[in-house]
Amino acid sequence: MDALERLQLLSSDMDLEPAEDAHCPRLQEAAGGNARTGKQDRLPVIHEAVMPGGKRIRLLKSLLSSACERNCYYCPFRAGRDFRRETFKPHEMADTFMDLHRAGIAEGLFLSSGVAGGGIRTQDRLLDTAEILRRRGYQGYLHLKLMPGSERDQVLRAMQLADRVSINLEAPNPKRLELLAPGKNFMEELLEPLRWVAEIRRSLPSIEGWKGLWPSMTTQFVVGGAGETDLEIIKTTEYLIRQLHLQRAYFSAFRPIAGTPLENLPREDPLRQLRLYQASFLLRDYNFEFEDLPFDAGGRLPVNHDPKWVYAQANLLHAPVEINRADRVELLRIPGIGPRSADAILRARRSHRLKDLSDLRRLGIVPDRAAPYILLDGKRPAQQLSFWAFS
Ligand code: SF4
Repeated sequence: MDALERLQLLSSDMDLEPAEDAHCPRLQEAAGGNARTGKQDRLPVIHEAVMPGGKRIRLLKSLLSSACERNCYYCPFRAGRDFRRETFKPHEMADTFMDLHRAGIAEGLFLSSGVAGGGIRTQDRLLDTAEILRRRGYQGYLHLKLMPGSERDQVLRAMQLADRVSINLEAPNPKRLELLAPGKNFMEELLEPLRWVAEIRRSLPSIEGWKGLWPSMTTQFVVGGAGETDLEIIKTTEYLIRQLHLQRAYFSAFRPIAGTPLENLPREDPLRQLRLYQASFLLRDYNFEFEDLPFDAGGRLPVNHDPKWVYAQANLLHAPVEINRADRVELLRIPGIGPRSADAILRARRSHRLKDLSDLRRLGIVPDRAAPYILLDGKRPAQQLSFWAFS
């Protein structure tokens, strides 16, 4: 079997691991980006990924080994599940990736692994692979996974080699993790490495990181596999964003895998995943507080509506925001206005008052979603007045 066939085996089921924006086309739409993602390229293991700033690259997503000694209940790679496993040595992975890179097939690498011989030894093999690549002059994008149970020095080394590091929390707290991955220790094995990343960033100059910058940090939650509420997930996400400067939480709607203890659990509605993304963006980019999010009494976000729209219906519909006076935080509360549109409004206001919807259109804003919640020069926009006249 050649290296590419082995790679295909290794990378099957990697779509369960949203690591960049390749697997979230609806999310891209929700975030205002382009939805042309998730496309597979010349090999099934190559995914089109959207980098921060919008650049697209062809990303090889692979495990170093699909052998795993852990027993996470939802995971296709769990110990004892019957399927053909494959393992690359660090130099084999580096050789294979460099061949794909030189051929122009893969521009970046996302590298994870099943755990074999403990988290520390597994992390060493991932680090060895990264070291080989960088020694050979590979300057491109590298996302390195941190293994549960890895040590602080290993986390630091990963940060010195990678553009992004991540470890999957999987569940929002120890109680929920127990139902998904009972062998894992939430605080010591999963949360602690994320805390180390934050602490290293704080305490050491960024010049020590790859290309003189520290890598971004992300995590992932499995949604709907442990009876957790949206409130629990978003509460933990808020902590990670505010306290540890998490770049991004990924939410992966649970789907049952044959041969796992959760194979009979129903798959989670992908819309729930979308609402969690939207809520996390409101916290990260829109100055929303946790208390602003529209959870119901059961801790659920509304599934059928964008949480920002639900907030606006409850808070802005009868108290519209004057576009010419609102500060940035107030502007960001308005549906249809994101960080870039808010900045465009603030810039435009320095030279003139914004009097009708066409003024917003000229700033590149599509004002239909904002119209019910705003005043322009003291008046509801014409569109909104006609709505009120007929309602
Ligand atoms: S440690 Fe990772 S690869 Fe192994 S069973 Fe758990 S989630 Fe799957």
